[in-house]
Amino acid sequence: MVSCDKGDFVIAIVGAGPYGLSALERICANLPDYSVDRKVQVHLIDPYLGCGGKIWREDQPDQLWMNSLAGSVSLFVDESLECAGPVRKGPTLSQWAASNSRSLSVDKGLDSLLGASSGYRWASRSLMGDYMRWFLGFVIENAPDNLHVNTHERKVIDVCPSSEKPGTLDEVWLEGESLPIKCHRVILAQGNPSPLLTDEQSHLADLLPAGGGTYTPPGPATLSAAAAVGPGEPTLVQGMGLTFFDYLQLFTKERGGVFRHGADGKMSYEPSGREPYLFVGSGRGVPYRPVLWPLGKSRLSKCTVPHYVSSKRIREFYQHPKDPAELEGFRKGIHGDLEHAYYAELISSDPGRCSISWGRFSQLFLSAAPGSPLQEELVRETITKEEDRLDLESMGAPLKGVSFQCIPELQKWMRRYIAHGTNQMLSENFSCYQALVTSVHRFYAEFARLSNSEQEMENLDFFRGVQGWLRSILQFLNGGAPWPRQKELIALSRSGVVTFLGAGTRLVQPSLRAIECTSATLPQASIDITHVIDARIAQHSVSRSTDALRIGLYGRGEISSVARRSKSKKSKNPGVEAIRVTKFGELIRSDGSVSRTRFAIGVGTSYRIVTPGLPMAHANSDFLLMTDRIARRLLDSLGIGRRSPSGLKGSVASGEVTERDGGGGFEEGIS
Ligand SMILES: Cc1cc2nc3c(=O)[nH]c(=O)nc-3n(C[C@H](O)[C@H](O)[C@H](O)COP(=O)(O)OP(=O)(O)OC[C@H]3O[C@@H](n4cnc5c(N)ncnc54)[C@H](O)[C@@H]3O)c2cc1C
Repeated sequence: MVSCDKGDFVIAIVGAGPYGLSALERICANLPDYSVDRKVQVHLIDPYLGCGGKIWREDQPDQLWMNSLAGSVSLFVDESLECAGPVRKGPTLSQWAASNSRSLSVDKGLDSLLGASSGYRWASRSLMGDYMRWFLGFVIENAPDNLHVNTHERKVIDVCPSSEKPGTLDEVWLEGESLPIKCHRVILAQGNPSPLLTDEQSHLADLLPAGGGTYTPPGPATLSAAAAVGPGEPTLVQGMGLTFFDYLQLFTKERGGVFRHGADGKMSYEPSGREPYLFVGSGRGVPYRPVLWPLGKSRLSKCTVPHYVSSKRIREFYQHPKDPAELEGFRKGIHGDLEHAYYAELISSDPGRCSISWGRFSQLFLSAAPGSPLQEELVRETITKEEDRLDLESMGAPLKGVSFQCIPELQKWMRRYIAHGTNQMLSENFSCYQALVTSVHRFYAEFARLSNSEQEMENLDFFRGVQGWLRSILQFLNGGAPWPRQKELIALSRSGVVTFLGAGTRLVQPSLRAIECTSATLPQASIDITHVIDARIAQHSVSRSTDALRIGLYGRGEISSVARRSKSKKSKNPGVEAIRVTKFGELIRSDGSVSRTRFAIGVGTSYRIVTPGLPMAHANSDFLLMTDRIARRLLDSLGIGRRSPSGLKGSVASGEVTERDGGGGFEEGIS
């Protein structure tokens, strides 16, 4: 156990994932702005500290890719960030990889298009873990003289008030240690610790071993989970998101299979014979479209502003009660604006796809009510090809109400569907989808900012519904696995390793020891299953966590939760929960009081992040805005005064410091 001088300020950061590391960096970067006459001790605690954090562990196979482009990810604060703290520039993930001779995604299809260190490549998750380790080293090396970082490869099992000074001092208990670390401030940056199994999941976990099988609950794909599934064993994978694609890698390339690129551009798969038979299905039955790859077209031809639903109208609807007809009109308005943005790009980038000019189309479109028969008719009559006509309702659920008589028929349809989406994404001719994503994102960001504004909100369920709808469009259009992985999926389907089951896949139990699966898309098929892998995203939970620290804090009312999304009445799953915090990350206790000494940070908090995921370079990332804001609030709360800007000193990656003081006073100090 590290001991420190009695007079030191002591801060604990629980979790050394991207948020925990960034919080540490922001504390270090901001500290020179404060007149501190004592030393600051920061304890960074995470059982996966030495290997890049839980998600980014360096011991993962290289085939497990991130879905962010390597050139877009950076943990450093650049001048695009509108934050109060100093800029401290540094390399993006791809720049760091290039200067350290580290390989980015290896793929023949990419090699013919890009240089080896292009920022348009993807990186493996383990490489990201390495970058994070280097980042931590950089932060420690360049920490201000009066700050010392102590690292602990341990789990925190409790944080409780110290009997010496309750309210100002906490005891942070580490697994396997007999004495706590006494801290003045604690930041929880735990990511998403696994939730308890639902009743349905527990039932499967009990049932499957009786027939020699296993059940793998939601969570990142790991080699140990994959090892439970033997060659040739029939395995149901529930969910077609990124975890499903990770499992594909672990069951194929990792087991010796080889993907080959044919001269005709087609990819084939040569099995090793050690693959299981994978049956895959999900609610909608199709994977998300591949994450946008801006190489084809980096700029849109046309930029539109919302016509039906302006920012002012959103605020108005947010604050005042509205009747159902007005709400429906509002939703249709957003719909209309999204369609307008899509057609603006489609027609401007390729006028031949519409029988009239963009100017005329836009005029006629906007003069009609959104969603009206007049608008539908205009689209039908002027947009020449059916595939260019946008249908937002059916786009995300192409298998809804569709069924196939036999399994091979569905496989052919699925391969065509995945190839079509992938080719569209790679083609310059479909920048209209990029325009649609930009427009959806703009609305989504506006909604998120309003829900963070702590204003009284009317029409809560309605807004959550619209937000959920926008999020699902974003996920569907831009949340899928990188395109080379989609091509591999097609090859795996052709080789028979993967069999698609379509939408509405469900498990049935015809006898005590047997499990079968069936689906709405293939009503006549039923397949015997040995293993079930739940590859859906583990839902964030506070009240149903398996993490001892969370259980303790929640049980004592020292953290509280808020429902993130309205739970549908039909759903058997517990809803998504977030840790309740203020805008500055301070924990809100179950009695509604605000802690001035404990903070929580990350996507699992009630402060809504507009762009979830890792911080993006040159994009005024709200991830970094959050870590900067919380670091400054924490330093303010220690009761130490701010220096005047001229008194600044600091250590920087690029030798460049910019001070942009956001002001704001401090509250309770430390005696
Ligand atoms: C498989 C997978 C792939 C992803 N890929 C991408 C991607 O490509 N791009 C992207 O933008 N986002 C991706 N994400 C989302 C990703 O989770 C976030 O971008 C990012 O990792 C969140 O950072 P975090 O610090 O909040 O959480 P995490 O990265 O999860 O870090 C939290 C850390 O807290 C530690 N911890 C938890 N509880 C305790 C405790 N009691 N004591 C001590 N330590 C504790 C954990 O060990 C962990 O290391 C991915 C997520 C998953 C699950």
